[in-house]
Amino acid sequence: MDSSWICVTCGVQFTPAPRPPARCPVCEDGRQYVGRGGQRWTTLEALRAEHRNRFEEEEPGLTGIGTEPSFAIGQRALLVRTPEGNLLWDCVTLLDDDTVRAVRELGGLAAVAISHPHYYSSMVEWGRAFGAPVHLHEADRRWVMRPDPALRFWSGDSLALFGGLRLLRLGGHFPGATVCLWPGGAGGSGALLAGDVLQVVPDRRYVSFMYSYPNLVPLPASVVARIASRVAGLRFDRIHGAWWGRVVERDGRAAVARSAERYLAALSSQADELELD
Ligand SMILES: [Zn+2]
Ligand SMILES: [Zn+2]
Repeated sequence: MDSSWICVTCGVQFTPAPRPPARCPVCEDGRQYVGRGGQRWTTLEALRAEHRNRFEEEEPGLTGIGTEPSFAIGQRALLVRTPEGNLLWDCVTLLDDDTVRAVRELGGLAAVAISHPHYYSSMVEWGRAFGAPVHLHEADRRWVMRPDPALRFWSGDSLALFGGLRLLRLGGHFPGATVCLWPGGAGGSGALLAGDVLQVVPDRRYVSFMYSYPNLVPLPASVVARIASRVAGLRFDRIHGAWWGRVVERDGRAAVARSAERYLAALSSQADELELD
């Protein structure tokens, strides 16, 4: 019988097959890693036996959905409610009956949109379960491990969805790395759903910008400067990162500007900025 194999390290689901794939290209890429002990696989059935999804309101109109115990990269997805329908921003691998019921109670999904390949997870299952298109940037198409008619590839730097939601390609971490601008967030001041394209760090006055987070490989200064100038033109106050608790509550735009400035100083000869000597 065919199983839809899931990589244990990145949580990405592959096209159903009788046997697991030989390798996971997402984990063999320099931005990720193959886990200790080599490539391992699981299935959605096995995952359902040992994990549950936790739902928690992040702010009015925004619900976090994360898997417990934590699985693979450990991100939590965000369900954004607008008067014109709900968006699932980013995704988690586990989809079970309880999750489908809870999402339906919140109004179902009009669409799914994902920041970058590390959160592709079991997006096809989610798209099919809710009859929702899954929006991915075409620049990252080669990282799709389970092609499906539910996947919609967009191009360019911006895609308007519904309810004022807008996808913006910032690049950096991946060529198609995308954030989502939610004008209704933060009580109408606007919120940026950043995935880890802008990574909200433990000091929540800052974000960071990396090529690889697990392997600590930075992005070039020119790319960080470009991302910062793009973000400076957006209207938002709050930044929701990819994990529970990773939120810049207010003044998010200033936090991005401050973070880019610090990052660029660290990459240049301005050592005094960091009090290194
Ligand atoms: Zn993987
Ligand atoms: Zn990532």
